[in-house]
Amino acid sequence: MRIDILTLFPEMFEGPFGSSIIKRARGKGLLYTNLINIRDFAHDKHRIVDDYPFGGGAGMVMKPEPVFEAVDYAKTLKTGSLSGTSEEPRVILLCPQGRVFNQETARALAGERRLILICGHYEGIDERVREKLVTDEISIGDFVLTGGEIPAMAVVDAVARMIPGVLGEEESFKNDSFYNGFLEYPHYTRPREYAGMAVPEILLSGDHEKIRKWRRKMSLVRTMERRPDLFKMAELTAEDRKLLEED
Ligand code: SAM
Repeated sequence: MRIDILTLFPEMFEGPFGSSIIKRARGKGLLYTNLINIRDFAHDKHRIVDDYPFGGGAGMVMKPEPVFEAVDYAKTLKTGSLSGTSEEPRVILLCPQGRVFNQETARALAGERRLILICGHYEGIDERVREKLVTDEISIGDFVLTGGEIPAMAVVDAVARMIPGVLGEEESFKNDSFYNGFLEYPHYTRPREYAGMAVPEILLSGDHEKIRKWRRKMSLVRTMERRPDLFKMAELTAEDRKLLEED
């Protein structure tokens, strides 16, 4: 998969893209990331990419021309180490007014061959970019950040771990919270006892079927208690109902 990211601050991505899962995905050739500095598409010698808002008001607005040209440029690029494709990539604007990002969206994006992400800054981007270029608007939550860089990193991270082969075992993201509509069960590791707190006996029993059922029940109970909104939407199996009826 190829992801081109349009930003005014490419240096912000160095740490997150050079560590952990994204680094591994890139290292395995499963993810190719490319940072495009929108400022390189400015039209004047001072490389100005923002201007005052028509109609007045606080803050500056990112000008349309550099963003249009940067997207046009991104579309001409080949898919990195992956085989070429002529299909039109999804152009995603990170935006607090977009659809709130979730695991389902991450899974859908992980199935794409390439994406273009646009990071806004200042008061945002000229509306014509949204009207003409953007296919999806993604928000990472109901709060406002300074720029789209951190949201873009969150999206790339969530997508990268769902590209087949990136995680050690494919199972590891299939058990994650939200993947099947539930929160994940609690985890424990050694030592068996720490500061007077013991690991649940059942996890030490070696009985895989009992452990599976315990984990499923924990997952159901957690979701019910912490995220009743998700629980209401989830489809329960006969076994789930039985587990919830038990003490
Ligand atoms: N004036 C805008 C508004 O009220 O909707 C907010 C602009 S914000 C300061 C600057 C940029 O940060 C946005 O263009 C967007 O790219 C990014 N951004 C801020 N919060 C975000 C969020 N929750 N999700 C995704 N992107 C966000």
